[in-house]
Amino acid sequence: MLSERAAKIKPSPTLAVDAKAKAMKAQGVDVVNFGVGEPDFDTPDYVKEAAIRAIQDGFTKYTPVGGIDELKDAVADKFRRDNGLEYAKDEIIVSCGAKHSLYNIAQALFGPGDEILIPSPYWVSYPDQALLNDATPVYIKTYEKDGFVVRPEALAEAVTKKTKVLILNSPSNPTGLAYNRRDLEAIAGIVLKHDMYVISDEIYEKLVYDGTEHVSIASLGREIKERTLVVNGLSKSHAMTGWRIGYAAGPKEIIKAMTNIQSQSTSNPASIAQKAAVAALTGPEDFVSLMRTEFDKRRKFLVDGLNALKEVCCLNPTGAFYAFPNVSRLYGKKAGTRSIQSSLDLALYLLEDAKVALVHGDAFGDDNYIRISYATSMENIRKGLDRIREALTALQ
Ligand SMILES: *Cc1c(COP(=O)(O)O)cnc(C)c1O
Repeated sequence: MLSERAAKIKPSPTLAVDAKAKAMKAQGVDVVNFGVGEPDFDTPDYVKEAAIRAIQDGFTKYTPVGGIDELKDAVADKFRRDNGLEYAKDEIIVSCGAKHSLYNIAQALFGPGDEILIPSPYWVSYPDQALLNDATPVYIKTYEKDGFVVRPEALAEAVTKKTKVLILNSPSNPTGLAYNRRDLEAIAGIVLKHDMYVISDEIYEKLVYDGTEHVSIASLGREIKERTLVVNGLSKSHAMTGWRIGYAAGPKEIIKAMTNIQSQSTSNPASIAQKAAVAALTGPEDFVSLMRTEFDKRRKFLVDGLNALKEVCCLNPTGAFYAFPNVSRLYGKKAGTRSIQSSLDLALYLLEDAKVALVHGDAFGDDNYIRISYATSMENIRKGLDRIREALTALQ
């Protein structure tokens, strides 16, 4: 009865742990949740006020499909200011979240037989968005010792006649690592040589630490800009996950196709949320830096705590709000009758026995790791670390 397409798609693999954590919470169990993928901050007041004004002014009707001019102007200004990139309004589309922009790109570009290069570990939606559009995800393994940056030679080797697109995500969910200018220059060279496109998911642009510079691959030159779709949004930078505003910029003909697709699916993103996004993009940046400072404190505390655990080794993440420790040295150990052989075994052990929820690395394509979100209070991080320490000590 269901389409072939529907049958290919799995529910978000983070669900097993997440559903269980929620069920435990509902039963009154005190679970420390390191599984979250959204800032624990509230949307800033000046953004909320803009939305309230929009409602009171009756700005509650359909808007142009790809977003109101005022918001496209604010997005264009943002690209100029932050990334040194010039885009005209017909090179920009506003969608219902960055995920929706990514989906529109997949619909506009991917087809049967197309190979989509995805450096692994990867964000969970990239492979499924390729599959939903009959394309084939092709994974390129990246390594901890390289800071999870894709090796240029590995990228070149993965290219075939069918390669259509490379998906980059910097700073990365789940690794928390970012690509530097040199890395991106090497990648851009290969992309141009093989005539493919890049999708650059830069949703964590504003959350970088230790003096890390965020570089957009599109900013490296005119030619690579013409081959790149930059995706960004307000969800992470302004704690606006529920408002559903994201955007993409790139070649005019692709943006036009995406807008046509959006016109036949969701139409415009919510009018009220668009006004809120204008306020966020044109407003003061102190909210973002306040949030970044707080994340930075938690990041250091969490990573130090993880590295103090025997058999756990965690790279210093310089972006986003995740730590991605290597836990593979724990595999083969036992606690009572329970044997830990995989990241899922470990995640389930920590959830059931230590009441700590986190996501197994296998969900992101690498079973040697777990993902710990620090978008939660310092108190929770302290409590969670204590519990993990105790649970790991019990392993033999
Ligand atoms: C959160 C996230 C998104 C999606 O953000 P929305 O704008 O809320 O749709 C996209 N990419 C990555 C890597 C993310 O972590």
